[in-house]
Amino acid sequence: MAEPTSGTHALATQLVHAGELRPRFAGAVTLPVFQSSTFEFGAEEGHPALQYIRLSNTPNHQALHTKLAVITGAEAALVAGSGMAAISAALLGVLRAGDHLLAQRSLYGGTQGLIVDALTAVGIEHTFVDADAPESWAAHLRPTTRAFYVESVTNPLVQVADLEAVVAFARNHGLVSLIDNTFLSPVLFRPLDLGFDLELHSATKYLNGHSDIVAGVVVGRGELVEHAAHRLKHYGGSLDPHACFLLQRGLKTLELRVERQSANALALAQALEEHPAVSRVHYPGLASHPRHERARRLFRGFGGMLAFELGAGHEAADRLLETLTLPVFAPSLGGVETLVIRPAISSHAGVAPEERREQGITDDLLRVSVGIEDAADLIDDFMSALAAT
Ligand SMILES: *Cc1c(COP(=O)(O)O)cnc(C)c1O
Repeated sequence: MAEPTSGTHALATQLVHAGELRPRFAGAVTLPVFQSSTFEFGAEEGHPALQYIRLSNTPNHQALHTKLAVITGAEAALVAGSGMAAISAALLGVLRAGDHLLAQRSLYGGTQGLIVDALTAVGIEHTFVDADAPESWAAHLRPTTRAFYVESVTNPLVQVADLEAVVAFARNHGLVSLIDNTFLSPVLFRPLDLGFDLELHSATKYLNGHSDIVAGVVVGRGELVEHAAHRLKHYGGSLDPHACFLLQRGLKTLELRVERQSANALALAQALEEHPAVSRVHYPGLASHPRHERARRLFRGFGGMLAFELGAGHEAADRLLETLTLPVFAPSLGGVETLVIRPAISSHAGVAPEERREQGITDDLLRVSVGIEDAADLIDDFMSALAAT
């Protein structure tokens, strides 16, 4: 059968077909796991290509790279052994000792740690800025500023920075723009179309979607992805073939899952907002979200992540956590099952209480990663737990 020209197809079709091996290996409809660290040199003339798992160039890696580049509209793609491996390879590919990075304040904790500890240790400087206040950025520019790093939606308060201004500012000042798009996935937001140079993902979350692997993705401009691949090769954070196989399988259902999670989250956010025992709901899909209009304009949906406060102290929040029956009390996000955490004792336990309060993370804030369960079942569970709290 002829090969599909995947570039012309819609996302759902690309997710299933793009990058799949042609001709199929032994006719296998699903690309097998090539559990081989090294590959026989081919019949090439001159210097033969070296295929090795750490070089991220086995058939499992190549299939994923093509699929990811097609679905994000990127020149090139790279998978890595974790979201942090992807983020560190991307940043180390762009920055050298003596360079300076502008980064959004209150990034994902691992990324913040990477910038503050690991990058500082190799002589890369940084300034955290309010990514929603473009007028404040120029004052932080230095002659050595090279890059601007943001997230499409932040954790746990689901804030949406002025992403269009970030792209324009980076262009005007010759900076590389990087965005972590983990929370929305390429289904809901296409940062490269908006003008970002590099888009990063913890594929552990929505891209894989089944809470069973750790993986990362870098997509974007070819030259920059190549630099990241070069760093990854030396630091050794490549993705193993079995995890490649699982990620490829997960990607095929990405649109189905994310659309359902997004619809479920909107329904749950609306139900929570109407409940008298809930003092505040954070969700970009609600008109009450301070950047709702921006999210509407830039995103195809508002995602599966939301947070809410009871306004009744952390004991009430803990009682609610204990009373819920469907959500799992666990960190991470983006899987098929609904997960709930209280950031003050989990993701943000290491942040000083005053700083947490300053960031708007109250002690009774609960963060929900909404899964693909039936929306009515989920809402019933939250409503029953609220009634019992
Ligand atoms: C989880 C996460 C990461 C880190 O990814 P790992 O796969 O755990 O290394 C980075 N950014 C965001 C927004 C995340 O949620």
